[in-house]
Amino acid sequence: MSWASKLVKPYRVEDGKQFRLKDFDPADTGHLHSKEQAKELLARGIASMAELQDKLYAQDRWGLLLILQAMDAAGKDGVIKHVMSGVNPQGCQVYPFKVPSEEELDHDYLWRSMWRLPERGHIGIFNRSYYEEVLVVRVHAEALKQERIPSSLVTKDIWKERFEDINAFELYLARNGIVVRKFFLNLSKKEQEQRFLDRLDEPGKHWKFSAADIREREFWDKYMDAYEDMIVHTASTHAPWYVVPADNKWFTRVVVAAAIVDTLEDLKLAYPKVDAAKRKELQAARAVLEKKNS
Ligand code: AMP
Ligand code: MG
Repeated sequence: MSWASKLVKPYRVEDGKQFRLKDFDPADTGHLHSKEQAKELLARGIASMAELQDKLYAQDRWGLLLILQAMDAAGKDGVIKHVMSGVNPQGCQVYPFKVPSEEELDHDYLWRSMWRLPERGHIGIFNRSYYEEVLVVRVHAEALKQERIPSSLVTKDIWKERFEDINAFELYLARNGIVVRKFFLNLSKKEQEQRFLDRLDEPGKHWKFSAADIREREFWDKYMDAYEDMIVHTASTHAPWYVVPADNKWFTRVVVAAAIVDTLEDLKLAYPKVDAAKRKELQAARAVLEKKNS
């Protein structure tokens, strides 16, 4: 087993039946003892990722979709900035999902995700995703009302039905060669408070602060129930959840990097083989260049 595979194993959930959020400690740092050690591993992860992404792009068969879900201040933006720092921007796209627009609300809820899916050869990152449809929309009844779904279709089974639809969608993606990996950055309520206070203390972080974040914090327990139920019902072997400890940013980043490396390694990526015709073309090109230089 590679270092990456070993490191992420305790955090990967492929079968949600037994999943309980309370079994996962937000302050866990695995076998790592210091930030320095984490820094080294992260650098190693980023270097591997760069090599693997180059092959992913060249081979142009698989796509990788990374989904980031978390409470505010859990470090989604930091993960994107640090973990993806080594990848070629040409083969990577990030999409942040916000409160749905009027146009988006006029459609079924997967519509807006569909056309932001990564192409083959690319890594796509969803900063929030269609999982908001069983999180914020479940916690706030008004959000569901705004979707204007015919009332006969909105029953007590709606969340169960959404889990089924999401599972079916992810199976469809898997069968098309779009690999889905989902990350829940598991932050404690206490650490969130600390990070909000830091944002208030530092002028450079004021832009990150929103009064809405404080309001959402009031619904903490409801959110945790929704996250747990979501993982119970949507963890699968083809689209596992990673429940990433998020109280220590340095550890969060290492776990996410390791999960990406582990996933890409499993794909057994390789540069495309050059056939006889192509080899001939390369030889001819060399002959032309060498003639010009002589
Ligand atoms: P931020 O990520 O801080 O820019 O905030 C984006 C906001 O959009 C969050 O408050 C999310 O809860 C909200 N949001 C994202 N997707 C949805 C959705 N499908 N329905 C309602 N709100 C959403
Ligand atoms: Mg926010």
